[in-house]
Amino acid sequence: MKQVEPIFNNILRKTSILSILIWILLISIVFFVDFDFERHLNFEVYMIFFLIFAISYFIFLLVLQQAAHQSSKMMFIENEKIAIENQFSNTSSTLPVTMYHLKKGKNDGIFFTYHEGKMAVELDITTETVKGKLINEIMSKETFESIILPLERAFSGNNVEFQVRTDNHVYDHYAWPIYKPNSKIINEIRGYGIDVTLKDLTEKRMKSLTDYDQLTGLFNRKKYSQMVERFIKDIDQYKQISLMLIDLDDFKYVNDTLGHPVGDQLLIQVANRLKRLSLPEHYLFRLGGDEFAVLFTTSNSLEEINYNAKKIISGIRESIHVGSHQLNTTASIGISIYPDHANDAKALLKNADLAMYRAKNKGKNHYFIYSKDILLETIQRIEIQKALRTAIEKNEFILYYQPQIDSEHRRVVGVEALIRWHHPIKGFISPKDFIPIAEESGFILEIGEWVIRNACEQFRSWNKQGLKIPISVNLSAKQFRQENLVGMIQEILKETNMDPTYLSLEITESISMEDVQFTILILRELQSSGIKIAIDDFGTGYSSLSYLQQLPINCLKIDQSFIHEIESSNNKITLVKSIIDLAENLKFSVIAEGVEKMEQIKILEDLGCHQIQGFVYSPPVEAHEVFQFVKKVNEMTLKKVET
Ligand code: C2E
Ligand code: CA
Ligand code: CA
Repeated sequence: MKQVEPIFNNILRKTSILSILIWILLISIVFFVDFDFERHLNFEVYMIFFLIFAISYFIFLLVLQQAAHQSSKMMFIENEKIAIENQFSNTSSTLPVTMYHLKKGKNDGIFFTYHEGKMAVELDITTETVKGKLINEIMSKETFESIILPLERAFSGNNVEFQVRTDNHVYDHYAWPIYKPNSKIINEIRGYGIDVTLKDLTEKRMKSLTDYDQLTGLFNRKKYSQMVERFIKDIDQYKQISLMLIDLDDFKYVNDTLGHPVGDQLLIQVANRLKRLSLPEHYLFRLGGDEFAVLFTTSNSLEEINYNAKKIISGIRESIHVGSHQLNTTASIGISIYPDHANDAKALLKNADLAMYRAKNKGKNHYFIYSKDILLETIQRIEIQKALRTAIEKNEFILYYQPQIDSEHRRVVGVEALIRWHHPIKGFISPKDFIPIAEESGFILEIGEWVIRNACEQFRSWNKQGLKIPISVNLSAKQFRQENLVGMIQEILKETNMDPTYLSLEITESISMEDVQFTILILRELQSSGIKIAIDDFGTGYSSLSYLQQLPINCLKIDQSFIHEIESSNNKITLVKSIIDLAENLKFSVIAEGVEKMEQIKILEDLGCHQIQGFVYSPPVEAHEVFQFVKKVNEMTLKKVET
């Protein structure tokens, strides 16, 4: 804090000097000018002296008054100045600004002559503490290095802007040169700094909001577009850009049945898995929903790309636990490469998308690299989708039935209903080709209901003809998860007056594994109304013994791939044997599917397989043919039993 100097003395001093000067002037007139007292000492002379004295006294009084006035004015100004300075210093130390003057001394060393403000207090660089010290003596090496260049530029006559970062703060600085009056010499610079810590933080946050997906922490779609565009622009440097588009299979189902919080957790865990599975040069994105992307510019061989895709597929397939839910999620991947498959960013994404859809259509949990065939296939798929809309009303579907033969008595113990589509132009379309499209577009619900109703009506029709035979119906994933599946089936059973114990529903191992708790719940409901449950394509999934034990099921259908050429593979025999043993232990019946040869029947019967289904006995045939077939086979076996 500054103090007022006693300046009154100063004024008095000046005034007395002035009066002394006047008297010196008078005396010098008397003594040094040739003055004759005798002759001039008369009344006029006295008057002149008196006049001079009076004038000098008057001047003296005037000067004295002026001096007093000046003195009080100066005192006031000085007081004001000091008060303002004190106030400024107090205020500036609390404001998020810092103000400073810097001078250059010997050997170009820079030192503060003034430094005030919050930052000054924080860094303990106030005018008081730093006077006379060089700046490199009072600040850290990093700070000094970050400011010395802009300061030197200011000393060279430039207005400069620079940033100073301390551990907890960020300051924007502005400094400018001060020229010596009427000269081009700069002896001082002045500047101020503003605390922009908050702004910096907000900007960082904003940046993270705009670049990253808030749920998973991966880059977002916007960042993806920016990066692809940039890579394409610099393609000379990168040569090749590969995009892996990853879409979770049936994620919507998780969201719909278990709720969004569970869905969110699943996405977070998938993102973490991707981080674990990917290489350092891979950029990871969540493009939205359950769609992720891996982008990399390393010119990997197709072999490496295949390897990475397989790694991601199998990595995601491992069970994910969210709360009490064990989720068995799979992913479908589409891959496209720039410039081989696309000539711009949009086409790169579109083609990866087409390849990904192909993977979905081929049963999900799979990956494809884009090719021209995929484009043709997509066009076809869109046509099929259109035609499917009207297929039911146009009566283009028909159910075929494939008999299932009991190994012990060689009798027909059931039939599997398999749908057929006779397209008016394209002719016969295999269910393998249209069921996935129906599933994707949602038509499967309508088709599925049609299948169940027709199968039940067929049962009644056969029943009227004296044939009472169980019917199996396939349920697709979407159907299994449809709202009120159980109610819908019960309704049909009632309408068609069908005995529920004669209806069996086939769900695949992968459908059943998606959400174990939900599967158990639905299967229990179905079973309690008398319906039988079979696990289709068994052996292709990854269900464990403990998992199977929990499921309320009646039958395992061994997948065709294990039966194919079983006669020449000991491995397959061992595998099938273990499935049969497992079924026996769990009290399930077993059906071997896709049996084409007599020798296969022999092996399967020896292994203890309960039922056989396959071309060896009969392909899927129309209802009236089944009737003939069953009658023939069962009569034959009856005769055999009788003889
Ligand atoms: P799936 O349920 O595994 O049905 C067995 C498939 O194997 C049938 O093919 C059948 O014709 C075929 N098959 C039977 N025996 C043999 C054999 O000895 N050798 C060979 N190579 N194949 C044999 P299909 O009828 O083409 O059906 C294919 C798939 O389409 C079915 O596989 C099933 O997943 C699906 N599907 C068929 N009908 C329906 C349906 O009504 N609803 C649903 N959701 N899916 C259906
Ligand atoms: Ca089946
Ligand atoms: Ca099957």
